[in-house]
Amino acid sequence: MTAKPNVPVPPEAAEIQRTITGRLRTLLARAHDGADMTAIARGYRAVLRLYDEYQGRVIAASGLSMKCHAGCVSCCCHWVDDVYSFEADMIAAAVRRMSHRRRESVIAACRESMEEYERVRAASAVRLESGEYQEIAGEVDFEEIVLTGFYQLHSRCPFLDEDDRCAIYALRPLTCRAYINLGDPAACPPENILDEEESTYILDLDGESNRLLDDLSARVARHPGDTGLRSLVLKCLEDR
Ligand code: SF4
Ligand code: SF4
Repeated sequence: MTAKPNVPVPPEAAEIQRTITGRLRTLLARAHDGADMTAIARGYRAVLRLYDEYQGRVIAASGLSMKCHAGCVSCCCHWVDDVYSFEADMIAAAVRRMSHRRRESVIAACRESMEEYERVRAASAVRLESGEYQEIAGEVDFEEIVLTGFYQLHSRCPFLDEDDRCAIYALRPLTCRAYINLGDPAACPPENILDEEESTYILDLDGESNRLLDDLSARVARHPGDTGLRSLVLKCLEDR
């Protein structure tokens, strides 16, 4: 296993980052009760495109190569969390446009995953109570224990199609885009995820952009507190 790589942000990527921050400020100023969510979705799609460019510049300057490619899906078995409310809305809108068969399959898979997640959560709570996690309790919080436990189930994301492709690739959340591997793909599967020296990497935006994204999400959220891809998209689909 290789150590977690150091990937500094080169000046050309920092410029894109500043543009992203400016776009997010504009979107936040427009987000209010009765806001035109179509315009916000359009503005956010432009931000996602800028993020992809930002990521490409950072990786190119690092001299490292991204190991991620279509059909490589271990990471798509995570309980995808940290999804923004407006991202879930955009994805729910895409699900509504899918064929009846595909839409029902996504909804059923989301429900099944949520039940699995609740079972892992309940089992983790019992184990925590019984002292099973005593050795790591000081280092890992309960949510991480649950997320790690869920990942061990190899439960495929409801948006993975039969060919192991992401059916909402152009709209996939920022959290999916940011999670990459810059070293050894052997680090990705569930059984290796607890290795301390691993090469998966979260290529995050800066603090100001993250704050703006959180504020934007909170301002237009209809289901505050839920940031799970499966659970939040399902709730958005049930809204109407
Ligand atoms: S993070 Fe890992 S599992 Fe996911 S696409 Fe990249 S190499 Fe594949
Ligand atoms: S939304 Fe797409 S990229 Fe994200 S976990 Fe699901 S299949 Fe993978």
